[in-house]
Amino acid sequence: MSTKLRFIIVGAGMSGILAAIRLKQSGQTDFTVYEKGNSIGGTWRENRYPGLTCDVPAHCYTYSFAPHPDWSAFYAPGPEIRAYFEKVVDDFGVRDFIRLNSEVSACEWDGARWQVTLADGTHDHADIVIAASGVLHHVNEPDIPGKADFAGAMFHSARWDDSVALDGKRIGVIGNGSTGVQIVTALADRAAHLVHYQRSPQWIMPVQQFAYSDADRSAFRADSDKIDAIRFGDEYWGGIRRFNSAIIDPDSAEMREIEDYCRRNLEETVRDPALREKLRPDYRAACKRLIYSWNYYDAAQKPAVTIQTGRIERIERDGIRMADGTFYPLDVIVLATGFHADRFIRPTTVRGENGADLDTFWKDRPTAHYAVTLPGFPNFFMLNGPTGPVGNFSLIDIAERQWDYIVQLMEPILEGRARTVQPTRAAHADYDRRRIEAARGTIFGSGCSSWYLDKDGVPLTWPWSYDAFAEAMAKPDASQYAWA
Ligand code: NAP
Repeated sequence: MSTKLRFIIVGAGMSGILAAIRLKQSGQTDFTVYEKGNSIGGTWRENRYPGLTCDVPAHCYTYSFAPHPDWSAFYAPGPEIRAYFEKVVDDFGVRDFIRLNSEVSACEWDGARWQVTLADGTHDHADIVIAASGVLHHVNEPDIPGKADFAGAMFHSARWDDSVALDGKRIGVIGNGSTGVQIVTALADRAAHLVHYQRSPQWIMPVQQFAYSDADRSAFRADSDKIDAIRFGDEYWGGIRRFNSAIIDPDSAEMREIEDYCRRNLEETVRDPALREKLRPDYRAACKRLIYSWNYYDAAQKPAVTIQTGRIERIERDGIRMADGTFYPLDVIVLATGFHADRFIRPTTVRGENGADLDTFWKDRPTAHYAVTLPGFPNFFMLNGPTGPVGNFSLIDIAERQWDYIVQLMEPILEGRARTVQPTRAAHADYDRRRIEAARGTIFGSGCSSWYLDKDGVPLTWPWSYDAFAEAMAKPDASQYAWA
């Protein structure tokens, strides 16, 4: 890179840290990462619930340039992941570029640059904005009648209240996505009574968790090939590719294999036939984001745990009443009810050329050209933006590939041959049309509710193969872009 430009990165989570490191490594020094929170780490800062674990193998959930021999287990606990990002920020010298407690409230294109306003009223400007603001951070507070009547403690899973005692308490967990499942497995031995409220049961993919010993960690330290064998080996990537084939072709042999695994897990692990039927979903495996767990069904069968299906009628002063009249008294209610996944950088105001605003551009659904750029919004790049790959993949790998794509788009600007870049409207419209058509045919569109779906029920996901994504990111198609 040669021309010195000013960059603003929005968000100091995994993607924003990546962008900062890559910019610094390329010789850019005029950039700021604005972070609304009081520390870095994004989702790993926001989520602190008991049982928080990443369901991507730890060695595969690292930056490609920063392997980490010290993980305590095959699937790493959340606090270790947060500590990893803190360490990387220091190891790669980007901490001084990060401004904490600095929420970006508006990004406005003035015809030449981005004018950026912060929530405290201060201003900044940039030639290029990188929106790395995450996906799952606007909490979904369920609209359940009677919430205000509850006399105990109640909080969302991403707003964990550490002051609330859990041991020996009667706890209700509403929601059984990955979060609710992890919380229930962590609290099953601690609560006097733990009620797991499930509006729709989930398929559970069995996986093996195991701790790494000191000897393992020494071996990883001594020989990075041992880490690479996990990161780049067939076991992980073969699994990714098979899973991906299943998602995009619900009639595939790979999908049947996943369904068999999940069904056998249910049949063979849950002993009580009545409980088994309660836990049996009425939609296809992987229609919702598939849950990987090594111990959820064990937790669900513990004497202190009750699985409660059906509709919640209301929250009362002392507990939760179901539509069929069932009532359990509770001291604590955890709302593991997920997130509004369609917000992305919003509520930040984003105005592109001629004042065009992002809310209007996204009135039908959030979208971005190949999940990265927006027509009418020059020099504005998204990491893990809408229509990006989802599935049970490492979002770090996705962000790294997107960054490589962004760098190529910026190249003419960095070399002084252009000032701006954006996708053409025609190219983006074509991408959107093809993507929506393909997404309807994926397993995510096979008939269930999930955060993958937009308001019209179309999966907001990358609908093609992982390899197609890697290929698209490897080299942008110049005919789809306009440099000026
Ligand atoms: P989620 O998957 O969206 O699950 C939300 C749950 O809340 C669902 O069971 C939903 O029921 C229920 N719910 C929502 N509103 C409700 C209401 N009014 N009444 C009763 N139930 C209600 O959210 P999440 O579990 O937080 O997970 C979100 C995503 O975060 C995951 O899919 C994953 O991508 C990520 N995550 C990853 C990990 C990891 O290990 N990597 C761990 C945790 C989370 P319905 O299903 O019936 O709508």
